Amino acid sequence: MYRYIFLLAFFSCGSRVELPAIDVDPALEPFLVHYLEVAPDVGRIGALRKLRFGDLEPRYMGVCAEYTAGGREWSEVVISPNLPGYMLVVVVYHELLHCVHGRGHTEDPDAIMAPYIRWDAEYWEANLDEQLAASFAEGVRDEPNRSAKTRPRGMGAE
Ligand SMILES: [Zn+2]
Repeated sequence: MYRYIFLLAFFSCGSRVELPAIDVDPALEPFLVHYLEVAPDVGRIGALRKLRFGDLEPRYMGVCAEYTAGGREWSEVVISPNLPGYMLVVVVYHELLHCVHGRGHTEDPDAIMAPYIRWDAEYWEANLDEQLAASFAEGVRDEPNRSAKTRPRGMGAE
């Protein structure tokens, strides 16, 4: 069901970074590739081990789980199956912004990083690219405290 891919990502600054193998569901791979194409830097992509579908508690649409053990840190993004297409892509970007670029939630209800994402296909069709760029442009969030790191974060959870 899953396969390993080696991503050779090209970033807007023109640098080329060879990434470690990430276990990505093929249906989610195009979103990850696009995310990395528009990202200003590699962030913590080296710590991302999986981007996959999985059953979550009903209140979650996606989760960024970050783990620390034995001096190593890694992360995993799990996406709820059966989201409509426009929500699927927004949720993937939301969780990658948590896991890869350390972005926290915002109080702006129209943003990708809103804790409760707009369920509105027309809105996202018109605004997704702009909102993704805006999410990257927000400053890097402070490093989360250790006690929170192993607690999965997801939609509507914080
Ligand atoms: Zn979130």
